[in-house]
Amino acid sequence: FRVPDPVNEAVRTYAPDTPERASLKATYAELANKKFDLPLWIGGKAVRTGNISPIVCPHQRKAELGGFHQAGTREVGDAIAAAQAARGEWAAMPWDQRAAIFLRAAALLRGPFRDRLNAATMLNQSKTAHQAEIDAACELIDFFHFNVHYLTQLYGEQPISSPGTWNRVEYRPLDGFVFAVTPFNFTSIAGNLPTAPALCGNTVVWKPASTAVLSGSVIMELLQAAGLPPGVINFVPGSPAAIGEQVLAHRDLAGVHFTGSTPVFKQMWRSIGNNIDNYVSYPRLVGETGGKDFVFAHPSADVQSLAHNLLRGAFEYQGQKCSAASRAYIPDNLWPQVREHLGDGIASIKVGDVSDFTNFMGAVIDARAYAKLREAIEEARSRQGGRVGEVIGGESDDKTGFFIRPTVIAGVEPEYRTMKEELFGPVLTIHIYPQARFEETLALCERGSEYALTGAIFAENRQAIVDATRTLRHAAGNFYINDKPTGAVVGQQPFGGSKASGTNDKAGSLLNLVRWISPRTIKETF
Ligand code: GLU
Repeated sequence: FRVPDPVNEAVRTYAPDTPERASLKATYAELANKKFDLPLWIGGKAVRTGNISPIVCPHQRKAELGGFHQAGTREVGDAIAAAQAARGEWAAMPWDQRAAIFLRAAALLRGPFRDRLNAATMLNQSKTAHQAEIDAACELIDFFHFNVHYLTQLYGEQPISSPGTWNRVEYRPLDGFVFAVTPFNFTSIAGNLPTAPALCGNTVVWKPASTAVLSGSVIMELLQAAGLPPGVINFVPGSPAAIGEQVLAHRDLAGVHFTGSTPVFKQMWRSIGNNIDNYVSYPRLVGETGGKDFVFAHPSADVQSLAHNLLRGAFEYQGQKCSAASRAYIPDNLWPQVREHLGDGIASIKVGDVSDFTNFMGAVIDARAYAKLREAIEEARSRQGGRVGEVIGGESDDKTGFFIRPTVIAGVEPEYRTMKEELFGPVLTIHIYPQARFEETLALCERGSEYALTGAIFAENRQAIVDATRTLRHAAGNFYINDKPTGAVVGQQPFGGSKASGTNDKAGSLLNLVRWISPRTIKETF
């Protein structure tokens, strides 16, 4: 079959006085007035356990939005059983019919579900309308379209034959179910991690982040509306540790599709190691984990573009992207000008309730993130004049919501704590280097982190770009030249990192889908 050629979904601007903005605002207001009672989804049925956890709005922490039911041991067992029971029929369904379900989901998301998924992402995850739009709407639509496109390429890949033989490969799903564990920070990732394996014919147990159950529930409704059969994806919010332990111990676990923190992924890997004798097959482990993403400026960099992209890369979505610019290397010849632009930019950034479309940043996700960020900012403040040159911005206030203003910690050595530790918030740390030491500082950057997710070089000088691209070879899975290190687009910049940042099985690419199939080679002679 030839499927429709994928095209990236156009981003809506939600400009003032447009019907799009009015409609999104109305949907947001409708959701903000609801008392949710969100169920688990097991075998196509809504399940309520009575063990309810509240749905929190990070920028209106006192808002009462109801809650979501959490899975216990019994429901997790039921979800695995439902996934197992659905396997045979789902794998036997002609693949174009499977693919059509996800193309239908994309069409529904382009239509009636767009506002709902965007509004849920704004309300529960504190994304601005623009950040919600590029994630929950555009990127998830793209994942559906492009995964179908890549699957056709994969299925079309066949070995050669010789006279009298016909060799072929049948791209079966894995021998068991897949466990998808999804983060709060991208609704599109939450949608992609269960659906990419499902598209390949697998069934899935999906544990969403407890701080993003609202958008996860909308995705479940979307998939059901698109015709996903019962049991193919089973939705079990709840305690990560307890659910993880139970699922990872199951003999039919065939794969893990994870995005989240490095320590959690390592812990899962250890559990799988401990259970290795119990499994029917070796589970495939695909993880996208932490980052300490860099922006490196050469003395020839365009200062305006550099400062603009530092502000966007570090502070959009409150710096809570795995890809966010969180450490920068700026030459001393540019620093005075960059400092001025950053200072002006930070002072003008509006932080607040995302239902006010003029705000550029919302709140950080929860009280724990807020406390952790404050601690690091306060420590840097206390070191000003010593290990830290200065702290710009960084004010915080959690009376209404978990608000932290954009923060720059400037003038530190490359070994300083926040040059190395992932904070996952609106904090950018800057090392100012002597311009004559470009090469040495590049080498420091290459070695400077356990992570290798994204990074950027800013330079007008071509030789500097060549040097940086070569020296920073293992510092990032996504490397940007004269652009911010965030905002990878499906089909354009396959996304993922190596080292402590993940298994680098590029999301939204053929390389990712390869992990969810177990090919059978068939040779027939005549
Ligand atoms: N793909 C996103 C980007 O390029 C980041 C994904 C993540 O935070 O995990 O900005």
